[in-house]
Amino acid sequence: MYKNNGVVLVLSGPSGAGKSSLIKEIADDIGEYYFSISTTTRKPRDGEVDGVDYYFVSEEEFKKDIKDEYFLEYALVHGNYYGTSIKPVKEALSKGKLVIFDIDVQGNTAITNRLGDITTSVFITPPTLSELRKRLQNRSTDTKEVIERRLVMAKMEIQRISEYDFIVVNDDLKVAAEVLKQIAKTARLKVPINKINDFVHKWEDKE
Ligand code: ADP
Ligand code: 5GP
Repeated sequence: MYKNNGVVLVLSGPSGAGKSSLIKEIADDIGEYYFSISTTTRKPRDGEVDGVDYYFVSEEEFKKDIKDEYFLEYALVHGNYYGTSIKPVKEALSKGKLVIFDIDVQGNTAITNRLGDITTSVFITPPTLSELRKRLQNRSTDTKEVIERRLVMAKMEIQRISEYDFIVVNDDLKVAAEVLKQIAKTARLKVPINKINDFVHKWEDKE
């Protein structure tokens, strides 16, 4: 019953919460997984690689992909478009993989509506807003103006924290990684509704 069905792990949280750092930290300890690489119209930050961190495209290309129904979900976040492609996600799920998304609160709503029975959602946050500000400043990848915009967004996002299955407070990175590792392992045990129905059918010894 527990084997071979694909499952989804949604990670959300303010930009600068430590989602990428935590994924890196647990990557070698959670078994085989597929990290969904989103498509975005945001410009790459220093060190970001096209096809690794994101697929970086123009707004025109993004809008064409929307029209071609290429996305499982997409959203406008901080003035840029971000979207999750359907095809690689479908493929990974059909191979029974753990599929990890780093998406915002709008994306979580869309994924939960479409794939709720196989989805575990986690909201990741630094302990306080002022700590978030510090980390965004230390990361030195965004201008002052962009950081202020991200902090305003963060205050809005935190209001929707109760929509998530789990909350991970990323204070000490190692401790937070340990918690997230346990959640990822548990996420693998989610059973889709069709499998549950099959199980009940067999359990009742029906043909
Ligand atoms: P996100 O992917 O959520 O935008 P990052 O992983 O890029 O966030 O982290 C934002 C910044 O905070 C990075 O500079 C990272 O090194 C730092 N960081 C992440 N976790 C911690 C932590 N627990 N303590 C201190 N700094 C952290
Ligand atoms: P960043 O610009 O910091 O990489 O990401 C900004 C925000 O966009 C983050 O909250 C991140 O989770 C979200 N995001 C990244 N990719 C996607 C996506 O494909 N869909 C949605 N809905 N949000 C995304």
